Amino acid sequence: MEVSGGAPKSKVKVGIPRALHFYRYFPFWKKLLEELGAEIVLSTPTSKKIVEEGVQMGFGELCIPMKVFYGHVLHLIENHPDLDYLFVPRYVAEDKDAYFCPKFLSLPDVIRILPNVPKMLNFEVNVKEFPISQSVIELGKQLGVGQSRALESYKTAKEYFKEYQDFLRKGVPVNHALRLVQRDLPFTVPKKKSKGDIKFLLLGHGYNVCDTYINLDFQKKLRDQGIEVITIENLPESLFKVPVIVNKRLRNYWRHEEEIMQAIRYYLTKGRDEIDGVIFLISFACGPDSLISELIMRDMKVVGIPFLDIIMDEHSGEAGLLTRIESFTEMIRRKKRKLEMDAKKKVKSKIKSEV
Ligand code: SF4
Repeated sequence: MEVSGGAPKSKVKVGIPRALHFYRYFPFWKKLLEELGAEIVLSTPTSKKIVEEGVQMGFGELCIPMKVFYGHVLHLIENHPDLDYLFVPRYVAEDKDAYFCPKFLSLPDVIRILPNVPKMLNFEVNVKEFPISQSVIELGKQLGVGQSRALESYKTAKEYFKEYQDFLRKGVPVNHALRLVQRDLPFTVPKKKSKGDIKFLLLGHGYNVCDTYINLDFQKKLRDQGIEVITIENLPESLFKVPVIVNKRLRNYWRHEEEIMQAIRYYLTKGRDEIDGVIFLISFACGPDSLISELIMRDMKVVGIPFLDIIMDEHSGEAGLLTRIESFTEMIRRKKRKLEMDAKKKVKSKIKSEV
């Protein structure tokens, strides 16, 4: 936008930490903020320095994704002193039946007290109390944008986000899709190198599954071993419509964990033969994940799907991780080979008996 007769008016700079809900909502946030006239400044991908600084700031028992989030905020403060705002939304509930983990509820409050933090944009998602459109109007006000333009921007951002989610449902890895979003490129499906002889469902929060520094590039390690990997973002929307009833007394009310349980429900029943194993990436000290990983493990035993849970923290090491992947994968390949040989033997003996 030009100011008549003067220098071009620079855009409001908004910093976004590349952590936590970045891996879930960044395309929506980016489109919304840009439509509202802001320029996005992202922190760099997670690095040793970011983790170390975040760990120093976060207390010992805090989960690693939260510590990493602190590190990203500190990175933005240090490297972008010209930021006008920091964007740390408060996610309480995005549907009426579930809440986000309490750490997301208080996130803006704990970030606000960090040293030298820039002004923060208020944006709260709590559909139990008010529609998201109301928060968008509030956000627009903070950026000097009127109600009707704010609502138009919201519509555009929602449409773009839907397009992004449909793209992921074609089996595209989240990190590939996020790269396209960052570069404003169209959603084109990458060529698949090779399918892999076994297929795993990789469970976990987006920030655990997609932050390649925290998870030691876990998905690549699997693909290098000839494994096809799918994550819950790749699954059809229809699997996530009906809530999971754990039992009459126990109802899961955590948003992310509910999605994980919904995905698992499909593979316990109709999708049983579509995967060879399940891996769950869990953060150390994560209450919600430790509860559902126990439930998932029991269910997997019942249906006979191999299951591996991997707990990550800032001390996780390459060698131990690789050994666990290799032994899990080898066990599944052997089992598969044996089943195939048994099936061949059966066919042969059937043919013999018929001759
Ligand atoms: S769900 Fe678990 S990993 Fe995620 S923020 Fe909460 S405690 Fe941390």
